[in-house]
Amino acid sequence: MRDSENAEEIGIRPESLDQFIGQSRLKERLRVSVDAALKRSEGKPPEKRDVLDHVLFSGPPGLGKTTLAAIIAREMKTNFHSTSAPAISRPGDLARMLTLLEPGDVLFIDEIHRLNRTCEEILYPAMEDGAIDLMLGEGVAARSVKIHLKPFTLVGATTRSGMLSAPLKHRFGLDLKLDFYGVEDLCSILERSSTVIGLKLQSDAVTEIARRCRMTPREANRLLRRIRDYATVEKIESIGADFVLDCMQRMGIDDLGLNELDRKLLRLMIDRYGGGPVGLKTLAALVDEEDRTIEEDHEPFMLRLGLIEKTPQGRMVTTAAYTHFGLESQATSDLFS
Ligand code: ADP
Repeated sequence: MRDSENAEEIGIRPESLDQFIGQSRLKERLRVSVDAALKRSEGKPPEKRDVLDHVLFSGPPGLGKTTLAAIIAREMKTNFHSTSAPAISRPGDLARMLTLLEPGDVLFIDEIHRLNRTCEEILYPAMEDGAIDLMLGEGVAARSVKIHLKPFTLVGATTRSGMLSAPLKHRFGLDLKLDFYGVEDLCSILERSSTVIGLKLQSDAVTEIARRCRMTPREANRLLRRIRDYATVEKIESIGADFVLDCMQRMGIDDLGLNELDRKLLRLMIDRYGGGPVGLKTLAALVDEEDRTIEEDHEPFMLRLGLIEKTPQGRMVTTAAYTHFGLESQATSDLFS
């Protein structure tokens, strides 16, 4: 991301629960827990204040997990520390982070399903008893020392909650799932973001972007920036639906919001494998992408649209996918053959 986009990103991110658009049931649950913890802390010194229970956010990328984690710290008027599981390779690194936390601090661990087993085992007593057991010394001189931590809130985010171990999952008091956004919420997000980045959008233009942004705020904001680039080059001041549709075509995004790779995956399943089932690794090799990219960035949206299904044998396309490409589905054509 360019520096100017980074600065804009900060401006675009909602800073409070009230500014955060959509996910109303999740927000409601969070609001109650935050308000209750704040109320119980009234008039108490920092070390005696009630901390928010540990929170787990799960859902596809770009739906607002990181944003909500930062909002929690702001609402609780405390410090926010952010890291991600792949960046924590040694238990000592995690232990150090935990011991440096001040009372009530929020520690955010992104992609928490990728935490290695030894680090996970440090987290269990830290989350449950507010303490960690550290091994000091080596060999026969090694001894275990218990270190008491200041009360803190762990916020974990995962795109793959099914991959989280049960003991870790059970230690989160709040287990909150983010869902894809509806067009109305996306329109509100786009209106807010376009004001922040200074882009004039007509209301029909907003709706057309909202319909093609994979039901995801991050994608909505990304499309907005690319449309602004086109508008700058072509000196367009006020953007209407026609201009948006033209930009979408140039970016290779179709009416459902599918991009070139999504379509390539679907066409491979249809043209080479008669609709499937096809294994994830085969698909990844054919399009020269990582399994994880397909599984986390492409499949959830196509599953949500009902274009593919996951079966124990592999991925299959549905009749809706054939219809999207103006093709007759295998199942239907079989009936008439
Ligand atoms: P995740 O951590 O789930 O991948 P992020 O929190 O990084 O997603 O959000 C991606 C982008 O989308 C950020 O720019 C954020 O400001 C924006 N965003 C996400 N959810 C919302 C929302 N509900 N309202 C407004 N903007 C949002």
